[in-house]
Amino acid sequence: MTDKYAQLVHHGVGRNVAKKLGLPQPAALRRYQPGQPLITGPVLVQGNSADADNLAAELLSWDLDVRRHAVPREKLGAIILALDEVASPGDLEKPILTAAASLRDLAPGGRVVTVSRPASEADSPAAAAARQGIDGFLRSLAKELRGGATGNGIVLRQGVQATSASSLAALRFFLSGRSAFVDGQFITVSSASGEPARDVDQPLAGKIAVVTGAARGIGAAIARTLHRDGATLILVDVPAAGDQLAAVANEVRGTALQLDISRDDAGQRIIGHAAQRHGRLDIMVHNAGITRDKLLANMDHSKWSSVIGINITAQLRINEALLASEHFRESPRIVSVASTSGIAGNRGQTNYAASKAGVMGMVRASAPLLAAHGGSINAVAPGFIETEMTARIPFAVREIGRRLNSLQQGGRPTDVAETIAFLASDAAAGINGEVLRVCGQNMVGA
Ligand code: NAD
Repeated sequence: MTDKYAQLVHHGVGRNVAKKLGLPQPAALRRYQPGQPLITGPVLVQGNSADADNLAAELLSWDLDVRRHAVPREKLGAIILALDEVASPGDLEKPILTAAASLRDLAPGGRVVTVSRPASEADSPAAAAARQGIDGFLRSLAKELRGGATGNGIVLRQGVQATSASSLAALRFFLSGRSAFVDGQFITVSSASGEPARDVDQPLAGKIAVVTGAARGIGAAIARTLHRDGATLILVDVPAAGDQLAAVANEVRGTALQLDISRDDAGQRIIGHAAQRHGRLDIMVHNAGITRDKLLANMDHSKWSSVIGINITAQLRINEALLASEHFRESPRIVSVASTSGIAGNRGQTNYAASKAGVMGMVRASAPLLAAHGGSINAVAPGFIETEMTARIPFAVREIGRRLNSLQQGGRPTDVAETIAFLASDAAAGINGEVLRVCGQNMVGA
């Protein structure tokens, strides 16, 4: 659905009124188009560590215009801030205030990306404080950026270099229009595994992928995005959505599998379909989900159990079947759709939030199982996304949901899809057990 307010405040009288009253004027976000430049304008790489030098060299090999020092009043596409060697809170000031001097030169749709190490692996309380400080710094900076610019961070666990395949994949994702609605977030790279993409515009070439709930909304967008990125698709939805499912499957030249994922044999049906047609399955995207909102005082068995059954129990059961199958063994990828409701909580959604928080718990606990086969499992937690689901929310509540994030607008299904495609790619193999929010830095709750 369209965001009429956002259109109104960018033209004629609407623009003047919004300016005078100090109303939000959401910027048009820079979204990915195949073949477009990764970023427009020079990239400033700040920091004196070896990682900063190596990153600058790597970015030069991507044909980017790289600066190691700011040129006064030059418009910048991105600022990369290597903070991987901070040992005490006092170490933060110099690099951060140096970057601050360039912030006014950041172009609309620009990017700030920090590179740091986890506080949990620091060898002293002072180092942990400095590393954790980056968290608060970056999340606050992201709230100050304007013009559709975003701020995100990459956290490298011990033994992972800034130039490992997955660190570079995360950096490429954050710099590109693929991450348009990801703001104020950190991605932890936990291992050096992963292979750089041979073709950055077709990172899923040759992959066989299943998407559940693909007949409409976010699921249909995931199908289109994975297809654009080179994957061959199997699309799953309930029999009642069969016609819509067939239409999407035709569009992406995939096959349709009419299946209620809460059936006991759903996992076997999925793996059977993939094995019969393609001999294997590489990527499983758990997107199907439902809401049955009610205040807890009015909650009944059917509303509680259907939401838990479809949103989390079905995923657990399907994953168990997939992991037991010899057809899901070569660098298998699972990406689940959670929700920011599962992080912050949401009035009227005790059942939904329990199911989505459950997805995050499942993902974290399953990461070692997938790593054993060179694979990964991650979750994407969307905030307010413009779909049929959110179109049904009453106007006033919908406006609050839309505006109360750093980008002052709802995301699009394609924003969730881009993040899923990134996490499903071979280059992202070193990212495992993570939850990445696609919420424009939602300010409600956590
Ligand atoms: P949607 O209702 O438009 O689409 C969901 C699809 O899942 C439908 O096609 C539906 O038929 C299918 N589905 C439902 N139950 C199924 C079952 N038992 N078996 C197979 N398919 C089934 O929803 P959407 O807005 O596109 O949401 C997609 C996912 O994103 C859901 O998991 C949802 O919880 C999550 N999400 C959405 C938002 C948002 O703002 N729209 C925010 C956070 C999370």
